[in-house]
Amino acid sequence: MIIDILTLFPKFYESPTSMGVIGMALNEKKIDLNIVDMRLYGDGNYKKCDDYTYGGGPGMIMTYSIFKKYFDSNNRGYTLLFSPSGKILTQKKIKELSNKEHITMILGHYEGIDYRVEKKYADEVISIGDYVLSGGEIPALLLADAVSRYKGVLNNKESVTSDTFEENSNGLLEYEQYTRPEEIDNMKVPEVLLFGNHKKIDEYRRERSIIKTFKNRKDIFSKIDLTKKDIESIFNYLKKHDNENNSI
Ligand code: SAH
Repeated sequence: MIIDILTLFPKFYESPTSMGVIGMALNEKKIDLNIVDMRLYGDGNYKKCDDYTYGGGPGMIMTYSIFKKYFDSNNRGYTLLFSPSGKILTQKKIKELSNKEHITMILGHYEGIDYRVEKKYADEVISIGDYVLSGGEIPALLLADAVSRYKGVLNNKESVTSDTFEENSNGLLEYEQYTRPEEIDNMKVPEVLLFGNHKKIDEYRRERSIIKTFKNRKDIFSKIDLTKKDIESIFNYLKKHDNENNSI
């Protein structure tokens, strides 16, 4: 898979590409990452990449011409443009993108990018959430990381498919996990996890997932097909916590 990242700040990627899941994907040649310094496509002696907004407004806008110069002489993969006003990125979308052979990412900086770049070159406009960052470097890194997890670099493939937001997670958030020691600072690993009764362990984990999703993500919770047992779990949870915290 080829990933092109078109950025004004190529140095940003020096450390994240040398380690972790992206580093592994690069080492194992599962991903061919191409960090493009868009400054090289700037205009004039000063390699100008941005300009004032027509109609007035604060800040500078990245110009169309730097992208035109780049795309006139380079192949374009499936092209994503990052903007807080794009469609929110989901695990489903990441999985879909991980099957593409070539992805090109357009990153904004300053106040954003001349709209004509989106119109001409973007196949999709992606937002990573309802907040505004100073540039597209972190969103692009985030996407490259999430895509790399599907490129067969993780030891245990199952760990990808059972994660929160994956199909095998039944749409629920992941249950809490523990490792050794069995007890520390007066906190014990739940007993059911210490014995190999897989049916009981599965039931316990489902219950923890149900409660966590109920507590943290009512939007996801409202879409789950609940079993009678799930409803009981929530009921017991509410009863237990009623006195401690009324605002669940
Ligand atoms: N004026 C713009 C914000 C520009 S932020 C607006 O109000 O919509 C500068 C750049 O950072 C954007 O062009 C985009 O590439 C990136 N960026 C900031 N927040 C982002 C988010 N939530 N998702 C994706 N990209 C984001």
